[in-house]
Amino acid sequence: MSLRKNHKFILNKDRTNTKTIILVIFPQVKGTLIDQKFKNNEKLLFSVNGSIIDESTYQIQRIDQIINNKRQFKLPNLGNIILSRSSLTFNISNIPEFVISLKEFKEEGSLKNFVKDNRNNNLYEIFVIIQDYSNLYLRIDTPEYPLAIINKKNVAIIGLGSGGSLIALHLAKSGIGNLTLIDGDIIMDHNIVRHICSLKDVGRYKTLAVKDYILDRVPTIKITTVEKPFSRENKNIEDFFDSLLAKVDLLVSATGDNIMNESINEFCYKRNIPIIFAGAFEKIIGGIMIRIDPRKKSICYRCIYKKYGNETIFQKPQIIDKNYIKNYGRDVKDMLTQPGLGIDIDLITLPTIKFILSTLLEEKDIDESFKSDIYYWFNKNIHGQKVETFVLYREDRMLEKIPDCHICSKIISKGN
Ligand SMILES: [Zn+2]
Repeated sequence: MSLRKNHKFILNKDRTNTKTIILVIFPQVKGTLIDQKFKNNEKLLFSVNGSIIDESTYQIQRIDQIINNKRQFKLPNLGNIILSRSSLTFNISNIPEFVISLKEFKEEGSLKNFVKDNRNNNLYEIFVIIQDYSNLYLRIDTPEYPLAIINKKNVAIIGLGSGGSLIALHLAKSGIGNLTLIDGDIIMDHNIVRHICSLKDVGRYKTLAVKDYILDRVPTIKITTVEKPFSRENKNIEDFFDSLLAKVDLLVSATGDNIMNESINEFCYKRNIPIIFAGAFEKIIGGIMIRIDPRKKSICYRCIYKKYGNETIFQKPQIIDKNYIKNYGRDVKDMLTQPGLGIDIDLITLPTIKFILSTLLEEKDIDESFKSDIYYWFNKNIHGQKVETFVLYREDRMLEKIPDCHICSKIISKGN
């Protein structure tokens, strides 16, 4: 438990009969709850010591009590807090009830109240301390995982379906400081069994529902949302995305829409933005992740899916029959409308998240987990094909660029 770093904590030593009780409360109370939930007249979220509860009476889970000599212990039976529209009422074991107005609560990071107990002639000095988030990443901030570097990263995700939303959530939990979420779709009831959001989000934009889901868990992250699909259909729209994505370190495409993927490919390659494409094979029988890094002049998405005559073929399939893999994403506009279990999508999404983190750390030589730029994954054995489930297959061979590809084979300069 760490207190707000700039919090000056001075106990009153002069009062002989004063007992000091410190209530520690997490700041959802101050930010999310009061400012947003009250304004929208929504059911309230309350957080006491990290446990978010959505009823109106909350059991107090931690109190530090300090009596004069600063001896500190925890009370076993703590009582509860009752939240109303204008105040918090504290019913704490063995001391008189006291009330703090929400107005006071919003204005100060911590509050000091005195409560007189007439029966026992005690005076209780009660500090309500709003906890900071300095412990949020305590369990992941290690020398092996440089959180300070990750926290400066800015990642954009196009497509907030089952895959994209899980990617966004785990990037946030992994300490990414900035996310930009782009999707024009709303949540439908049939999305729920494969999506992080719930039935209460049906009818909302995926971007906004995912943003709320993440902020309830990682309130320190900065999230920008765009409620329209990525597009370059005219100069105004391209300029909009140009300015939106100007400071992005990496872009993730989880749309499953290959026409959009080709557009993303060209857009990012011109601007030197690395891209990770995440996609599923038909019926979510497996999936693929592709890294395109224009900074290294790597092969582009268009060249990976070369056209042979009228056919588009994923070139040189290493693992399985090319007649099977050639159809990846090319014939179906939206892969995520295909049947398949949520767990199958999650299983191909989770390695993609590690792939993204590894790519973000690659430049610092901290993480070299993924040597190749293309990996496959299968959720079940395929008849007649030598593939295993739960194995990440690496594409080792160099794929050939289309001669004179207008995207990846010429000299790139910004704004070109
Ligand atoms: Zn190319």
